[in-house]
Amino acid sequence: MIRVENLHKHFGGFHAVDGASLEIAQGSITGLIGPNGAGKTTLFNVIAGRLPPTSGRVFMAGEDITGLPPHDLFHRGLLRTFQIAHEFSSMTVRENLMMVPGGQSGETIWNAWIGRQRILEEERELQAKADEVLEFLTIDHLKDEKAGNLSGGQKKLLELGRTMMVDAKIVFLDEVGAGVNRTLLNTIGDAIVRLNRERGYTFCVIEHDMDFIARLCDPVIVMAEGRVLAEGTIDQIKSNEQVIEAYLGT
Ligand code: ADP
Repeated sequence: MIRVENLHKHFGGFHAVDGASLEIAQGSITGLIGPNGAGKTTLFNVIAGRLPPTSGRVFMAGEDITGLPPHDLFHRGLLRTFQIAHEFSSMTVRENLMMVPGGQSGETIWNAWIGRQRILEEERELQAKADEVLEFLTIDHLKDEKAGNLSGGQKKLLELGRTMMVDAKIVFLDEVGAGVNRTLLNTIGDAIVRLNRERGYTFCVIEHDMDFIARLCDPVIVMAEGRVLAEGTIDQIKSNEQVIEAYLGT
């Protein structure tokens, strides 16, 4: 589904991504791990159109998507989850989901022409979809809660929920487990597996929690110093001398 070819991202003289090549297979939950500073987040930012690469190419389903802006990638079903922006924290969980740009007409001049009935109808559909997403993620009891009041893990579920408001094909998840308790982490893991199996989502997940990676991800790609060091099942990765050395070296 995604092919990255010899990607470089330099910040001045510093090579954060230094010739990374990798593939993310359709239907997989691919883990991306590596010591701090390995270039994982930078790689995500380049794939997701947040940063232009210095050189190299990114393909999605065989099509060159290098350097396309996030909204363009969004329409192709390539999404990266983001922390809930500050300005959305005073809105409810359900409203946050309804804000995701999708099929709704929004505040365009057409609204006046189409008429209020049509808008109400669209809003009802959007609301029904939001409720369905909340139920899927088992957080329907939080629908009227302000997003700013959610715990770290609940916010992660909401971020995942936003990808479900549009029909995502591939979702890039950055550090799902950071500051999330074990129970909620399991709920997030379950949601990822169900989205993968039942809705055909492909995932690429950056995560430090090795139990989480072991439970969810196959294959696992290891990055170090801006390049791909190894790829395989978690067991293959764990017994790889180069990988052990890269982690010990930090
Ligand atoms: P990881 O996610 O694997 O921890 P990052 O991609 O965040 O690694 O960072 C890789 C390296 O690139 C780090 O040394 C970081 O300091 C550097 N880096 C990341 N973004 C920038 C930037 N905007 N300007 C300069 N250096 C950066």
